[in-house]
Amino acid sequence: MSLAKRRGFVFQSSEIYGGLGSVWDYGPLGVELKKNIKERWWRSMVHERHDIEGLDAAILMHPKVWEASGHLSGFTDPLVDCKQCKNRFRADDPRIKGTPGQPDAQCPVCGSKGTLTAPRQFNLMFKTFMGPVEEQAAVIYLRPETAQGIYVNYLNVLQSSRQKIPFGIAQVGKAFRNEITPGNFIFRTREFEQMEMQFFVKPGSESEWFEFWRGERMKWVEGLGIRSEKLRWHQHDKNELAHYAKDAYDIQYEFPFGWQEFEGIHNRTDFDLSNHQKHAGKKLDYLDPKTNERFIPYVVETSAGEDRTTLVVLCDAYREEEVRGEEAAEGGEQRVVLKLKPSLAPLKAAVFPLVNKDGMPEVAHRIHDDLRRHFNVFFDDGGSIGRRYRRQDEAGTPFGITIDGQSTQDQTVTVRDRDTLKQDRVATAQLVEYLTQKLAG
Ligand code: ATP
Repeated sequence: MSLAKRRGFVFQSSEIYGGLGSVWDYGPLGVELKKNIKERWWRSMVHERHDIEGLDAAILMHPKVWEASGHLSGFTDPLVDCKQCKNRFRADDPRIKGTPGQPDAQCPVCGSKGTLTAPRQFNLMFKTFMGPVEEQAAVIYLRPETAQGIYVNYLNVLQSSRQKIPFGIAQVGKAFRNEITPGNFIFRTREFEQMEMQFFVKPGSESEWFEFWRGERMKWVEGLGIRSEKLRWHQHDKNELAHYAKDAYDIQYEFPFGWQEFEGIHNRTDFDLSNHQKHAGKKLDYLDPKTNERFIPYVVETSAGEDRTTLVVLCDAYREEEVRGEEAAEGGEQRVVLKLKPSLAPLKAAVFPLVNKDGMPEVAHRIHDDLRRHFNVFFDDGGSIGRRYRRQDEAGTPFGITIDGQSTQDQTVTVRDRDTLKQDRVATAQLVEYLTQKLAG
């Protein structure tokens, strides 16, 4: 967290006012990292597939959507209050000792015994008012998941794109949940982004597609460069299943605070489409052109949290290391390094004139100007070269390009690899190609 703040990945929202509970802002490096993850997701889920279309539905939706989807009645968490200190907890908060509502229960904040109420259901949706006069305005909700925007548009997309079932719709967008016990940095927040894909299939084929998407999503996660021993599957048991799901698997990561989910694959059956058909009074069934059968499609959902995936990527990349060799003398023997996959790194390279004289700054500026047309690159001429390398290690920048005395003579530069610390001498004219190759994948 300290690195994330210091280097401009993540800041607390409204920090000068003391912060807003569990809301975070992404700084210059954070926004690039997030964007790279989202683009990678979009490429693999939309551009590389013939059977998935993209969508960007609005956050605000007709209030009946949430009646139909079951979120008004079912999107709740059991909650307990402490009558003594007035704090509020999720009933399953592991810090609570004993059974809430019973004399043995102990408040995890004030330590009082018997002061916790029995669990009550608390709806997680944020409410607001639409229209100019609050009393007459319609109560509407900030969407708690992006999926519903996909369901209510599924026929629009199907018809306009001339897709046939099986096909999917993908969307990246904000979702809001008034979580009772948010926390663990950007792991559980009240405003977050989701990367969701709903795949519409013929009833009876959903189990096969469910397995297919489990495989695809794990491959994608591994492609982010995450260490495989830190990843595992968790199947939901009956008590964990969401109100719409028949089967669900989470992909979990071993965070510093334990194994937790960051993506879910869900068999949502025809629950959502059938309910929308009922509540909206509009036919949402599909006519199979080959067999002339009519059916309401089943849905296999892949639902990833963008912020949580970013946290996975950051946690997995973070290392504290001993530096050996030449660099140890120049910039201290310890380093903090983000070993981000180069294609995900916010900055792809940093350009350093070795010293600020003898024509080196001019050459360095020229190289920087040339490279920035292709990649997000950084220029740094402040402090010793070792210090400059260390700063880029912390930002996860995979390559350091140094312009030295030789560069002004023979138009070559050194390129230092963040992970191996090895240096290659590369002709300036070859730099774009050199970096393009290294950044692939
Ligand atoms: P949890 O049990 O952690 O509350 P969930 O099972 O309710 O999560 P889903 O409804 O399946 O989560 O949402 C899909 C994904 O959206 C999750 O895997 C997670 O990455 C992300 N997500 C859900 N709630 C939050 C939140 N409050 N903050 C950040 N990301 C979230």
